Amino acid sequence: MRKIRAGILGLALAVSAVVSAGNGTAYAEGINPYDDFNWRWVTTDTELSRGYSKSHKGMDIAVNKEPVYSPQKGTVLSAGYWTSAGNYVAIETRDKDPDTNTKLVIRFLHLKSKSVSTGDSVSKGEEIAVSGNTGTDTTGPHLHIDINNEGEYDGTYINYSNTIDPKYFWPHYFDGPTFALHEEHQTEEHQTEDELLRKFDSAEYFFEDTLINYVGEEEFMKWINSQPLEDQTVPNFKKAFNISDEKEKKLMQQARE
Ligand SMILES: [Zn+2]
Repeated sequence: MRKIRAGILGLALAVSAVVSAGNGTAYAEGINPYDDFNWRWVTTDTELSRGYSKSHKGMDIAVNKEPVYSPQKGTVLSAGYWTSAGNYVAIETRDKDPDTNTKLVIRFLHLKSKSVSTGDSVSKGEEIAVSGNTGTDTTGPHLHIDINNEGEYDGTYINYSNTIDPKYFWPHYFDGPTFALHEEHQTEEHQTEDELLRKFDSAEYFFEDTLINYVGEEEFMKWINSQPLEDQTVPNFKKAFNISDEKEKKLMQQARE
C-alpha cells in the first residue's frame, strides 16, 4: 500500500520531468511514466501464468474464454490470425509514450474470437474479444498482452522493437511502481516456446482479417486446419483462393477507407 501512495505522489513531478527529458530518463530515475494513463484492466482476472522477461516481452494472464476489453480509446491497427499467435487484435491507443512520442500499441494474442476488425474505432472498456487458446505458441488457455512504443507497421505485419512491461500500466494490480529493469530466470521450456514463436513470426504467416473476411472465417479456418503449420502462409493462401497481389492491395485499401 505504501508503494502505491509513493507512486501517486511522485506522479505530478514525474510527468513534467518525463515530458521535458525525453530519452528514457524516467526509467533511470525510478519513475513510472505510464501509471497516469489510467488504463482499464483488460479482462476479468489479474492472475498471471507468465510475466515479462527478455525472452517473453509481454504478460500471460490466466483466463479462459473471458471477455477482453480495450484499456483505452483507440483504433484497431490490425486484427486477424497468425500461426504462432492464433487470433489477434492490435490496438493503437490514443496515448503517446513520453519517451518516443509514438502512440502506444497493445496486442492481444491467442484469442478464441474477435468482435472488432481492422480499422474500427474502440472506446475505453469496450469488449473487443474473448480470450482463448489459439495458435502454436501456447501450452494452455491464456491471454497474452504486450505493449509497444516503437512499432513498424507496413499494412500487413507488425514488427516491434521496444516492448514495455505491462505491469507499469496497472501498478496497483501488481508489484509496482518500482521502475527498475529486471530479468526473469529463463527455463528450458520458455526457450523452446520462444523458438516456436520466432519460427512463425514473419509476414508470411500473418493474416489480416481483411484477407480472412474476403473468403469468410469458416472457409479460412477450414483451409488453415487442412495445412501443415509450415504451409499456413499468405502466399499459399492466395494461391488456394486465387487472390492476386493486386486484389490483395485493393482489399487492404478498402478496409482502411
Ligand atoms: Zn505470452
